[in-house]
Amino acid sequence: MDRKVRVRFAPSPTGPLHIGGVRTALYNYLFARKHGGDMILRIEDTDSNRFVPGAEDYINESLAWLGIGIDEGVREGGAYGPYKQSERRDIYREHVKILLDNGKAYIAFDTPAELEAKRSEVANFQYDASTRMSMRNSLSMPDDEVKRLIDEGTQYVVRFKVEPGRDVVVDDLLRGKVTINSSILDDKVIYKSADDLPTYHLANIVDDHLMEVTHVIRGEEWLPSAPLHVLLYEAFGWSDTAPKFVHLPLLLKPDGKGKLSKRDGDRLGFPVFPLEWHPEGGEISSGYRESGYLPEAVVNFLALLGWNPGDDTEIMSMDELIDKFDFSHCSKAGAKFDYEKGRWFNHEYLQKLSDERLAELFKPVLRQHGVNPDDYSDELLARVVGLVKGRIYFVKDLWDQTKFFFVAPEEYSAKDVKKRWSEDTPRIMGELVDVLLALPDFGSKAAEPVVLDWIASKGYHLGNVMNAFRLTVVGECKGPHMFDITELLGKDETVARIKKGVERIKI
Ligand code: GLU
Repeated sequence: MDRKVRVRFAPSPTGPLHIGGVRTALYNYLFARKHGGDMILRIEDTDSNRFVPGAEDYINESLAWLGIGIDEGVREGGAYGPYKQSERRDIYREHVKILLDNGKAYIAFDTPAELEAKRSEVANFQYDASTRMSMRNSLSMPDDEVKRLIDEGTQYVVRFKVEPGRDVVVDDLLRGKVTINSSILDDKVIYKSADDLPTYHLANIVDDHLMEVTHVIRGEEWLPSAPLHVLLYEAFGWSDTAPKFVHLPLLLKPDGKGKLSKRDGDRLGFPVFPLEWHPEGGEISSGYRESGYLPEAVVNFLALLGWNPGDDTEIMSMDELIDKFDFSHCSKAGAKFDYEKGRWFNHEYLQKLSDERLAELFKPVLRQHGVNPDDYSDELLARVVGLVKGRIYFVKDLWDQTKFFFVAPEEYSAKDVKKRWSEDTPRIMGELVDVLLALPDFGSKAAEPVVLDWIASKGYHLGNVMNAFRLTVVGECKGPHMFDITELLGKDETVARIKKGVERIKI
């Protein structure tokens, strides 16, 4: 019987969600949507020592920003809650008891100091079938002694009893069947009496079972845990409904040498977090949102880090990604984090925005630079950004490309002056002013032929005159088409700038 697809993204709130985690969430989401399934967000907060305040909100805000929708979770609710592991203690306690009762787990009293002593005494010590009888646990000690210690309130852990010498098969949709021998596994701690909480392994598989998860899609770093999880499903008698595994390839540093780390962002100058992260009393880490990325661009970029649609299509909306997504086009090899590609995606998505929308996004940037956008009509702003948007990678780049629209140049590029300004230029600019003042229509299309005809009729050097003109208006010899600029600036401003330039530029 085919079950409804149910997947979960199960982050631990131990810090800001990094970009690799976001990709895992995205792949879960794409897979769920593709198959009409459910996407669960489960907060795995059983490691109280590593809990970081604000991390859970950060996860929610990041996913919301990117449009990764959650069907069931702490905020959304759902029929399988609670969705936060620290609120499921009773459930875990009950399941630990099941394993203890059926002999699949045992109680161990070894203190951290005792374990440490053992490790220094025995090379490559592992708590397993070969050593457990020499340790202090409910298998090696008499029952009444165990009971007495527990009654006295002695701290203990529960360990999963791994039977040695068995082949454990992890069936991974991406990697095929991965077989390992159970002898290499240790008797993992699955519960600690000290905080009355299970460890990740137990909580994770109990929840996946109870939440009827069909596919566990997570990072490759969890592959080594998978054999233990297979054995745990078996110990509970749940193997028939155990979820299928998909262990996603690692994200690698841009040069492909090693795993992308949280520190690479600062080192290489790009964000590795979706949103800016402000740790209590610590240094701020940059985020994609605050760096000027559009969420659609980030989603598209991340989707292609480890997956492709089977052809070379690159620009895909969320709906298109959902439509095309499948694991058969997922790579097993690590995906290089090509940050330049991320910039390119942002450029492409900015081109898709209407000029009006882009102008809206530009307004806060204008304010930051002391320009009040309300002094300009929305229509004018839209036309200004429309002229230069092909050159930008981020909304903030619009300022460099368009600042001369808002602020007349105070300085003139020395290099361009040297190249384009001669003794004759002030006189020619004076003539140009007369030509411009005489124009009945100052629009780009009307003005251009008149000015070009005048230059030709006088036998002037086209490049020199037009560049000198540009120098006075823009301050340097670059920018969009000259007559588009002057049309938007208007006749009075254009003429005023030429006159000011003539006064100021000295050779
Ligand atoms: N809590 C684990 C994490 O932080 C979940 C791993 C899994 O998805 O099984 O990534």
